[in-house]
Amino acid sequence: MMGAHHAATGAAAWVAVAGTGPFMLGLYPVSDSGLLVGTIVCAGAALLPDADHHSGTISNSLPPLSKVVTRAISRASGGHRHGTHGLLAIGAGSGLATLAGLIGIQTETYGRVAIGAGVLSLLLVAYAAKALRITADGTWLRSWLLAIALATFVTLYAPYEWEWLPVAVGLGVAVHIAGDMLTTGGVPLLWPWTPRPPRWWSRTNILNDIWQPSGWMGLPVLGNAGSRREWAFAIPVSAYATYGFIVGIIGIVHSFTTDPAVTDAFSSLWPLV
Ligand SMILES: [Zn+2]
Repeated sequence: MMGAHHAATGAAAWVAVAGTGPFMLGLYPVSDSGLLVGTIVCAGAALLPDADHHSGTISNSLPPLSKVVTRAISRASGGHRHGTHGLLAIGAGSGLATLAGLIGIQTETYGRVAIGAGVLSLLLVAYAAKALRITADGTWLRSWLLAIALATFVTLYAPYEWEWLPVAVGLGVAVHIAGDMLTTGGVPLLWPWTPRPPRWWSRTNILNDIWQPSGWMGLPVLGNAGSRREWAFAIPVSAYATYGFIVGIIGIVHSFTTDPAVTDAFSSLWPLV
């Protein structure tokens, strides 16, 4: 599946799982800002499994930090489309995000500042921006500015609700793996164990698409990566993610304008206007 489509499915998955509005499941309900920030973080996390490829889009998203991270992931996971595309990667992603959430410092002005969560979201925001073509190869300054702005928001906001970060990262990784399973090629789902099917299975059409002779697994109903079918799938998914994003923004604006502190400030200004 293409990078932008991975990002869209990640964002849509967060809206479905964490949103509580119409057409959302609310399985893991979060606040409006959690919905908004989580959508971006989950879109980035849905690209994380492809950060195992040092010459890929992701590795150039936030140079030089993204290159270093990509090299490390590639080494730890045994190369492209191996360890990062198995069920273990979902646990590893959530575990890493949990550890990141524990790293913080106590400050006088802002209370606890979640540095670990901030650095992790810095990368994830940069991944999402690159895949969605908000940034490009030559725009490293824009990549850094955008990533820093959003990551600062997450860092200051995370101390109150940081538990959602491991959920968003795990969900994003899971959605990526599911997305790659829908296109030809499949994934080593049980990595590092890749059992191969018996010979009769490998000779049977359709069955050998699901459990391939190489031991990789999939359900390639969307055909090749980037196919028309993949686009037809990605368009409504992207529309749904955008809808969730807008619901999050409306919710934030609404709670801001009905906040007693804000309305009091406005009413005290009113006689002056
Ligand atoms: Zn992939």
